[in-house]
Amino acid sequence: MEIKYSDILYFRRKLLKWGKENKFNFVWRNVDNLWHALVAEIMLQRTRSDVVEPEFIKFINEYPTPHNYLIKEQPKTFKNLGLPGREQIIKDIAEVLKDKQNLKEKRDLLSIKGVGNYTAAAVRSMYFNVRDTIVDGNVVRVYSRVFGFKRSPKLYTDKSFFEFADRVTPKRNSRIFNYSLLDFGREICSPIPKCEICPLKRKCHYFKNIIKVK
Ligand code: SF4
Repeated sequence: MEIKYSDILYFRRKLLKWGKENKFNFVWRNVDNLWHALVAEIMLQRTRSDVVEPEFIKFINEYPTPHNYLIKEQPKTFKNLGLPGREQIIKDIAEVLKDKQNLKEKRDLLSIKGVGNYTAAAVRSMYFNVRDTIVDGNVVRVYSRVFGFKRSPKLYTDKSFFEFADRVTPKRNSRIFNYSLLDFGREICSPIPKCEICPLKRKCHYFKNIIKVK
C-alpha cells in the first residue's frame, strides 16, 4: 500500500497541534526515576489510565525505590487492578534496578523479563526522551483507520506496519508526538470514534469511506 509522504506530514502536523492543545498531565508523565516509569507502563498495559492513576499514586508513595518494594513481604500492588499476575513483573524489574539504573538502551530494557517492545519503546520515548516508535492497540486503531490498513491482530507484530509507524514518528518532538498519539487514540479515535470533532477527518480513510458513505 502506497502512502503519500504529504499525508504523513499532514497527520503529524494535525496530531501535534491537537496534542499541544489537549495536554493530559498524568502523574507518570512527571516521574523522575526509571523505576516508577517502568511500573507505570506495566500498570497501563490494557488498563484504563483513570483506573491506573490512583493505584499508581499509592504505589509511588509506598515504594519510592526498588529496595522498598523488595523488602516488603508479599506486596499486593495489583490487587485493586484485578491483575495479580503482573506483580511478578514488578519484582523482576525491582531486582534488575536495585543493581543497575542505567538502562537507556532498548536491549537492556528488553532483557528484563516481562518488558516487551512496547514497554521498552514507551519508556525510552516518554521517560528518556529519545526517539522511539510505539505500537499498541491505540496506535494500530488510529493508523488503520486514518491510512486504510486492514485491521488485524497481526499488525502488532507485522514488520512493515512497524516500519510504517517508524516513518510516521517524527525526528523532532517525538515524545510529544507519542503522548499525543496515545491521547488521541483514547479521546477521539476511540473504539467508538468521535469523527465529527476530529481534526484529521479531511484525510481519514475511515471517515471518507465508511462514515461518509453510510
Ligand atoms: S475521522 Fe474518525 S476514524 Fe478518522 S481519525 Fe478521526 S476519529 Fe478516527
